[in-house]
Amino acid sequence: MPVYYLMLGAPGAGKGTQAKRLSDKIKLSHISSGDIFRDHLKRDTELGKLARDFMSRGELVPDDITIAMIRERLLQSDCADGAVLDGFPRTPAQAKHLETLIAELNGRVAKAIYIRVAKETLIKRLSGRWMCRLHGHVYHDIHNPPKTPGVCDIDGSELYQRDDDKAETVAHRINVYLEQTAPLIDYYRDRNYLIEINGEQSIDAVSSDLLAKLKQG
Ligand code: AMP
Repeated sequence: MPVYYLMLGAPGAGKGTQAKRLSDKIKLSHISSGDIFRDHLKRDTELGKLARDFMSRGELVPDDITIAMIRERLLQSDCADGAVLDGFPRTPAQAKHLETLIAELNGRVAKAIYIRVAKETLIKRLSGRWMCRLHGHVYHDIHNPPKTPGVCDIDGSELYQRDDDKAETVAHRINVYLEQTAPLIDYYRDRNYLIEINGEQSIDAVSSDLLAKLKQG
């Protein structure tokens, strides 16, 4: 039976970093909706063209577009055993569709992992964040600096600052999160899927808390 882990938390909470680590550990594909959109943007596909303006304004891409994209992705063979979903669902409508899709696939949600971080911390983190051009590896000026400034430790590609990590857009993205995505925390808590992790710790401490809580079930 395919199993799905859902990462919840604000932009800058560390979802992507923790999702990558978890997916390596439990050997499930890491599916990041933001990474898929950025890949389409880079390749200038039809989907990329549809998503571009929403993304650059720090808005959510409309549900119908996002849901169709994730549905297609989860039907691919590398997701046959399930996936770690990072950045999806982000609205109640997306959560409902995901439930239907997982039922169609005869799967189940294992856990929804909420990484909790205060708003002030998010702003600091996002404005110091850098990403590599080739694979989207993430760095931070203070918390996780690359060995050579401007160069990815892992694949040697150039680091850049995402357009939507610029100061004006960051505040807006956090507000969009609070309005549209934060209600999902209660949604999954009510269904007994939620585990909550203090995201204000080091990357390693967050990972070990997360694994410990998953073990407890
Ligand atoms: P992220 O890398 O997860 O911060 O996503 C970057 C941007 O992609 C977001 O600000 C949205 O514009 C778009 N995006 C990613 N995931 C979703 C989603 N589940 N629903 C709508 N828009 C999304």
